[in-house]
Amino acid sequence: MKSAPFEHHQPTSVGEAVSLLESLDGPTVLSGGQSLVPMLRFRLANPDVVVDINGIEELDYLHEEDGSLKIGALARHADVEHSDLIAEKYGSFADAAPLVADPQIRNRGTVVGSVAQADPKGDWGSLLIAHDGEVVAQGPDGERVIPADEFFLLPYDTALDEDELITEVRVPVPSAREGSAYHKLKRKTGDYAMAGVGVRLQFDDDGVIESAGIGMTAVDITNARASDAEDHLEGERPSPDLFEEAGELAAEQSHPESDEHGDAAYKERMVDVLTQRALGDAAERAGVVRRTVKP
Ligand SMILES: Cc1cc2nc3c(=O)[nH]c(=O)nc-3n(C[C@H](O)[C@H](O)[C@H](O)COP(=O)(O)OP(=O)(O)OC[C@H]3O[C@@H](n4cnc5c(N)ncnc54)[C@H](O)[C@@H]3O)c2cc1C
Repeated sequence: MKSAPFEHHQPTSVGEAVSLLESLDGPTVLSGGQSLVPMLRFRLANPDVVVDINGIEELDYLHEEDGSLKIGALARHADVEHSDLIAEKYGSFADAAPLVADPQIRNRGTVVGSVAQADPKGDWGSLLIAHDGEVVAQGPDGERVIPADEFFLLPYDTALDEDELITEVRVPVPSAREGSAYHKLKRKTGDYAMAGVGVRLQFDDDGVIESAGIGMTAVDITNARASDAEDHLEGERPSPDLFEEAGELAAEQSHPESDEHGDAAYKERMVDVLTQRALGDAAERAGVVRRTVKP
């Protein structure tokens, strides 16, 4: 099947893109096209107007600036996967990138496009939540910064307005005693997560957990925060027992649905296990403990 006809605009600056989004009727943004193009082909999306942002070079970046890791709207999954900066300092992002879809989709699909798509099975939203990240949008009234916790409303529905363009997502640069990890269960290459857990642990100088962030994938109607587990971890010293309790709390706070990949009880159990494993990796990467997960 072919897509229905639509008008195609190719702005070369953010300003031009925002003017188009404001002035055109019912516009849809196209970035990597890995979700949108199949939807167009199957006529699940029938926009009259498509604003293709691939010519806006100023949106193609992945760097640290002003205390944040900033991922521009044209940074592809593969850019994260192959970044030395990510490999060196952002364990959870380095874990997640090679697990997104398959190499072809990673070469073209963008991190921001995945966040905008707001599929509860998408990986990046969970990491934005775990890292207390933000979505930066540009609209007719200027820039708007939306905390990750307020961005995901329902499956495929976000706090973004129709005339806004996401220019970047960002997370704080980790402190010296901080580590993060992402664990994901999927059946085969190219599949979305059956369940996934992203974790960030920040320690004080005495090795006590100062702050914890945990984001969950594919086990609720949106990417979701495991706040009970976070609260349980904060102010405590890492130990296998503590991580086991946190895993149980995360599982209790998840709401997976049964499907062809597994029943809800199995997925809840996987949240527990993945949380414990990610916590172990994060603590180890923070340099606080060598091994924290029970064998
Ligand atoms: C077979 C398959 C497996 C996949 N597996 C995974 C996986 O395991 N994990 C995962 O995270 N993702 C997965 N994906 C999704 C993949 O990450 C896509 O790249 C992503 O969903 C969309 O990114 P994109 O850049 O291709 O966006 P597009 O397809 O171009 O756009 C997607 C949506 O976001 C909107 N949008 C895009 N960019 C912006 C912007 N800058 N501002 C405002 N709105 C915007 C578009 O209007 C559209 O509604 C998979 C996709 C497929 C087809």
